[in-house]
Amino acid sequence: MEECLFCRIIRQEIGSEVVAENANAIAIRDINPQAPVHILVIPREHIASLKEITADKCDVITDMVMLINELTVSEGIVQTGFRIVINQGEDGGQEVDHLHFHLLGGRFMRWPPG
Ligand code: AMP
Ligand code: ZN
Repeated sequence: MEECLFCRIIRQEIGSEVVAENANAIAIRDINPQAPVHILVIPREHIASLKEITADKCDVITDMVMLINELTVSEGIVQTGFRIVINQGEDGGQEVDHLHFHLLGGRFMRWPPG
């Protein structure tokens, strides 16, 4: 998976602003933020998409959610609210084929999304 952008970021071959990390996941600021808080929570392991999630990946998903919980406090959005997004596949607008949660906050989130 040498060409995967997020694998390269995790291996520190490409720079990023890491804001939190734990055993199975890292969180970086999105390079093109769509809200005052826009952070990507990424598993260290290359998992191409949500379709690859099976029961043996529960530690990875738990660590991703733990990072989100830490970040909503450290970014000051735990009380005001936030949105978690996974863009899946072509219609979902997925650009990077390595699973990630978008954590968006710091402004009102409209519904439905575009
Ligand atoms: P998605 O469309 O869900 O695959 O989202 C990919 C996200 O990665 C987009 O929001 C991009 O702005 C973001 N992105 C692309 N390259 C980088 C990078 N080098 N560092 C941080 N975020 C990035
Ligand atoms: Zn990858």
